[in-house]
Amino acid sequence: MTSITPHTKAKALKPGSRRPAKELCSECGLCDTYYIHYVKEACAFLNQQISELEEMAHGRSRNLDDENDWYFGVHQQMMAAQKKQPIEGAQWTGIVSTIACEMLTQGLVEGVVCVQNTKEDRFQPMPVIARTTEEILAAKVNKPTLSPNLSILEEIEQSGMKRLLVIGVGCQIQALRAVEKELGLEKLYVLGTPCVDNVTREGLQKFLETTSKSPETIVHYEFMQDFRVHFKHEDGSIEKVPFFGLKTNKIKDIFAPSCMSCFDYVNSLADLVVGYMGAEFGWQWIMVRNETGQQMLDLVQDQINTKPVISQGNRKPAVQQSIPAYDQGVTLPMWAAKLMGVVIDRIGPKGLEYARFSIDSHFTRNYLYVKRNHPEKLDDHVPEYAKRIVNQYQLPKS
Ligand code: FAD
Ligand code: SF4
Repeated sequence: MTSITPHTKAKALKPGSRRPAKELCSECGLCDTYYIHYVKEACAFLNQQISELEEMAHGRSRNLDDENDWYFGVHQQMMAAQKKQPIEGAQWTGIVSTIACEMLTQGLVEGVVCVQNTKEDRFQPMPVIARTTEEILAAKVNKPTLSPNLSILEEIEQSGMKRLLVIGVGCQIQALRAVEKELGLEKLYVLGTPCVDNVTREGLQKFLETTSKSPETIVHYEFMQDFRVHFKHEDGSIEKVPFFGLKTNKIKDIFAPSCMSCFDYVNSLADLVVGYMGAEFGWQWIMVRNETGQQMLDLVQDQINTKPVISQGNRKPAVQQSIPAYDQGVTLPMWAAKLMGVVIDRIGPKGLEYARFSIDSHFTRNYLYVKRNHPEKLDDHVPEYAKRIVNQYQLPKS
């Protein structure tokens, strides 16, 4: 067992400021631990330092002259992938859980930080350090709510583990990278997922009740590449609701303020990222950011089919048109929403262009949110790459 170091180097916090990011806090969990002493440097919402942390994690920050780097972050390669034998009940085909299981069984790591759910509630996140493959598999599928993954940081140090895999979303990983050197690990592996529009548990309930015909039977949902939300129900049926038919006026305030001011959709600081939005419908999207990420992916190469990513269509008119709709919470009648969904699915952006569509739509919305609600933060908080993305569009003046 390692002894607990006092972490005296970090700047002192005023007593009582348990969540210094206040309403922008994403509940990443850091402030539930004594690593709160690093919060002023480490918190993604108090100190935006993606470029510096990219240098530390990947040896360089993103090249803004290369469009893929500019949009998706530092990477060595990307691809579309599916597991040959999908894991039943995983969010997609279970590539994340499979990599984690292989890392544990092949002895690369002694534990895996992942998110199970509580016994009472299938969507209530419960971060754990998994030490068996059963515990990793019990964390499969998204808990689409803010999750305090870093609340287990003290447990890592107390456990004496030296080699660890952490699975997490961007804000958690930014804070983790900032305190990585204080954790006493020999090797940290980071497996990230993209993340956007996260919500509190109450916000999730409102979203499900406003959008689905049967909110209580939903076991899983995803905002799919076909411009529809797919809700999977307990009986295996899939309910599809077009994005453009969402009751935006009712749900626009459910997204956490942290997610309305986030510009790290693609999890810039993970070694390996597994999502879906850069791949065609039905496929997962893998981005290898550095050598460590490649080593992690190599463990499952024989268990996955892969193909190159594609990029088709032109997202820009759709993004420009969606800016006022997002902004004013416009909701289309369902027939019009369905029609628009069908048309845009046929001729709209696909593959990497779909990912750029989603990034552009969210960054423009979030830029307006920060400008209106936290104008004093705008310049420092929005990374250079995001400013360039936003500057491609005409935004409302105020
Ligand atoms: P599985 O094998 O099912 O494993 C899922 C893993 O996610 C588990 O290890 C679990 O520990 C972890 N996890 C679950 N809930 C959380 C949470 N709240 N916080 C942190 N980790 C969690 N991909 C995109 O391309 N675009 C998106 O917009 C997007 N949004 C996402 C939003 C959230 C909140 C999350 C958690 C993921 C999001 N993803 C997004 C990633 C995508 O939905 C899949 O999680 C990813 O493709 C992995 O699928 P899988 O079948 O391999 O995962
Ligand atoms: Fe603390 Fe994390 Fe909230 Fe920032 S986001 S205030 S680091 S718990």
